[in-house]
Amino acid sequence: NAAPLELVVVPCLSDNYAFLIHNSATGETALIDAPEAQPIADALDSRGWTLSDILITHHHNDHIDGVAVLRDGARVIGASADAHRLPPLDLAVDEDTNLTVCGQQTNVLDVSGHTIGHVAYHLPGAGLAFTADSLMALGCGRLFEGTPAQMWSSMLKLRALPAETLICSGHEYTMTNARFAASLDPDNAALISRIEKVETARSEGVATVPSVLGDELKTNPFLRADASEFKAVLGMADEADVDVFAYVRAQKDKF
Ligand code: ZN
Ligand code: FE
Repeated sequence: NAAPLELVVVPCLSDNYAFLIHNSATGETALIDAPEAQPIADALDSRGWTLSDILITHHHNDHIDGVAVLRDGARVIGASADAHRLPPLDLAVDEDTNLTVCGQQTNVLDVSGHTIGHVAYHLPGAGLAFTADSLMALGCGRLFEGTPAQMWSSMLKLRALPAETLICSGHEYTMTNARFAASLDPDNAALISRIEKVETARSEGVATVPSVLGDELKTNPFLRADASEFKAVLGMADEADVDVFAYVRAQKDKF
């Protein structure tokens, strides 16, 4: 399928993002997460698009509340592990599901940690990963249900995607995440220059999501728990990677 997908970022509620992807060759449109119906309906109407699919990442209200109003014939897709607490699914998926969305192969990744059963959707042909509250711009989701070991293994899974992948995460938390990252890693040159860009974007009201995975690799403390230079800065040179991750996550909770 030669036609590239169009990606639309839809701000919702106070700091959530929903995403639309559209294939102009087939006319298909998919929504990833539905924090609230109205802004998404408006984004669809202004483009003359109709939803073919709704992909859900996890069960929290700020990701599913708009599904009931928006579904209207669309195929609703979510994790089989979470089907009991998601809106009724037309297709329950797991990592073994062969899924095509908007004409693109769509890989389901179990990225448990924020919740158990949280999934990400990776469209390798489009260079897009929808990560919601797992990997976020300069951050990762809080551990409501999972263990640090689960979230660290989810980080490793996402980190293995191609570096040019656009990480479409669920919230505009980047400025707070940046301040936290800088508090741990103040001499990281890539982080310092990224924070300047984040500050400029936010002062202009521009979204910092999606972000590029390659930038996250250099700057996101939650992806760097096994980096020897970062461990040394934390005074944890001899600690296990997962223990460094757990420490960073616990520090963020207190920040
Ligand atoms: Zn959530
Ligand atoms: Fe959320």
